[in-house]
Amino acid sequence: MNIANATPLVYRVETSGKARSAAERDAVLASPGFGVHFTDHMVAITWDKAQGWHDAEVIPYGPLSLDPAASVLHYGQEIFEGIKAYRHADGSIWTFRPDANGQRLQRSAKRLALPELPVSEFVESLRQLVAVDKDWVPSAPETSLYFRPFMIGTEAFLGVRAAHKAGYYVIASPAGAYFAKGVAPVSIWLSTDYARAAKGGTGAAKCGGNYASSLLPQQEAQAQGCSQVLFLDPVEGKYLEELGGMNVFLVYKDGTVVTPELSGSILEGVTRSSILQLAHDRGHKVEERKVSIDEWKQGVTSGEIAEIFACGTAAVITPIGQLKGKDFAVGNPDAPAGELTMSIRKELTDIQYGRVPDRHGWLVKL
Ligand code: PMP
Repeated sequence: MNIANATPLVYRVETSGKARSAAERDAVLASPGFGVHFTDHMVAITWDKAQGWHDAEVIPYGPLSLDPAASVLHYGQEIFEGIKAYRHADGSIWTFRPDANGQRLQRSAKRLALPELPVSEFVESLRQLVAVDKDWVPSAPETSLYFRPFMIGTEAFLGVRAAHKAGYYVIASPAGAYFAKGVAPVSIWLSTDYARAAKGGTGAAKCGGNYASSLLPQQEAQAQGCSQVLFLDPVEGKYLEELGGMNVFLVYKDGTVVTPELSGSILEGVTRSSILQLAHDRGHKVEERKVSIDEWKQGVTSGEIAEIFACGTAAVITPIGQLKGKDFAVGNPDAPAGELTMSIRKELTDIQYGRVPDRHGWLVKL
């Protein structure tokens, strides 16, 4: 843990930007989509080697000014997070397990040789943004405000080494209900030509490069009528890792809940760890272990595997109906979502929206 800042950062808040009218905002919130509209403000915090984190600000949302030699543009020193704010029935605004995201940002920073932001400052950055943009947190069922905190190397220097200057920013985007017409199973594509991560690589970090390398296989998936890519382990090409932007779970007929173990090349999802806890609480046998692609194919074909789903902050839980690859397809794209899939999804969203008691203390008020 890096405690570079002994005293909390003091924010300068500049709200004089061209904030949109209530009518413009309401029009956006009526159908926000995902990741296309942004709130009126953003957080910016500066880091350099000599001063550590300083100059924390909330400023009007707008373009960044970067030197063309900034290291992020050449060597990809970039990391990010994804976390949501949920409006409860009484109007209060909460976020979910921000410490887990703050710690993951620190792990990502470490791997990408970027400075670690104290977890308390990560949580405070979300709070500062919501303080000025609270009216952008939608209130319709299953909607949220999606935060995108990110950090980049900003030093103008073309030598290949870790930047001595960095910027941390938070932008926020209202998000509509992911499955507005009801939760629908998806088909996914098994990528055997490409991996998203390497042994000893950056797979466990949330860095832009991992997503850049997933885009070509993602295009391949879409051409096959699939919505996401399933990647296998980069060493043997035999074991499940994760989807391009979600972790994956299998549910056996006997109720055993299985997810690939953290291999060093998988992103440790906050949703994944929450589901492991909830399944354990319900008395399910829970396993984090290696799962081969043959286990998936055979289990689905024989009926031993009853449900498969993907999980992540954006969609919470998405049932997987079918897996397709170059020379095979298993599962039924039209099968209804599994029972456990749907009830865990409901339990998790009920916690996030304050509809049931938060027995694990996962919610933090913003
Ligand atoms: N794996 C990858 C590659 C992801 O991008 C995400 C989304 N952050 C996840 C898993 C799920 O993580 P979380 O539950 O923390 O959103």
